[in-house]
Amino acid sequence: MYDVIIVGGGPAGLSAALILGRCRRRVLLCDAGRPRNAASRHLNGFLTRDGTSPAEMRRLAREQLGAYDTVEIRDVEAICAKLCHSGGFDITLSGIGGAVQVETSRKLLLATGVADALPEVEGFAEIYGRSAFHCPYCDGWEHRDQPLAAYGRGAAGKGLALELTAWSRDLVLCSDGSVELPQDDLDRLARNGIDLREERIARLEGHDGVLERVRFETGEALPRRALFFASGERQASDLAQRLGCTLTSRGDVETGRYETTSVPGLHVAGDASRRVQLAVVAAAEGAMAAFSINTVLLKEDLR
Ligand SMILES: Cc1cc2nc3c(=O)[nH]c(=O)nc-3n(C[C@H](O)[C@H](O)[C@H](O)COP(=O)(O)OP(=O)(O)OC[C@H]3O[C@@H](n4cnc5c(N)ncnc54)[C@H](O)[C@@H]3O)c2cc1C
Repeated sequence: MYDVIIVGGGPAGLSAALILGRCRRRVLLCDAGRPRNAASRHLNGFLTRDGTSPAEMRRLAREQLGAYDTVEIRDVEAICAKLCHSGGFDITLSGIGGAVQVETSRKLLLATGVADALPEVEGFAEIYGRSAFHCPYCDGWEHRDQPLAAYGRGAAGKGLALELTAWSRDLVLCSDGSVELPQDDLDRLARNGIDLREERIARLEGHDGVLERVRFETGEALPRRALFFASGERQASDLAQRLGCTLTSRGDVETGRYETTSVPGLHVAGDASRRVQLAVVAAAEGAMAAFSINTVLLKEDLR
């Protein structure tokens, strides 16, 4: 039996594995290899790693974990998780070729992240991660003062457009259909110098991954250099819900201090849980969960 099984090998899961491995806990880290930021070339805003590629970041983390014989890493997907009568967890893992194994642990940490709902617009895939992004905190700096499009509708589209004013004042909210906002909000956008285009978008045009213009169905073109979108996200895995966790109205797993959940022995850390969705925050949440898990294990083991 493992002390802890960690599902998810992004910043949250890797960071938790490092802390728990150093606590001499027997750890199994399982990762399906589908990180949220796979399309991105640079991981920005991570102290000492600003601008590193996400793949290099994960490679380095795995390399450093290799020094700990307490941590085992498997490239597998966790397809089922069950709370046992003993209070531990049975985790069913599916490997390459569909081979299935069941492993057991005393505690479980889900660091499975989220998946973004991407705009369904022709040309989007070609620019995603190069000049189309969801997070200004991650990629706004590289596009400061450039002509930007905010893609979205309703409160989310409005919020993104207003947020982007910190990085550029040359902003157009493209709602790709009715913007679905009351007059007050339209006035606020106008007061802040944000133009609105409600025409349906035919495609995003550019070259070598770099957006050059938004082409509307009317045939008209809007020159833009990058696009930020607010189209929503969902949990990348339903394991937490299947174990009985509740989701917030935003779709995050409800967690308490130290990333605890309502299910005894289960922690959820990183983007899957809550608050600020940055890699450095995910790593910190993983470390907090690891601290909490080790504290509970200590209490259980001490006489
Ligand atoms: C395009 C883009 C650019 C970004 N740029 C930045 C940036 O510059 N700076 C920044 O700080 N943040 C950035 N982010 C956000 C950053 O990627 C996330 O905050 C961070 O990856 C969250 O880490 P995590 O460990 O919670 O989840 P993830 O990194 O998404 O890792 C989750 C892992 O869990 C695995 N997994 C899921 N379900 C299972 C399962 N059932 N079994 C096994 N494994 C499973 C997945 O395969 C994945 O490897 C960006 C995001 C995107 C989409």
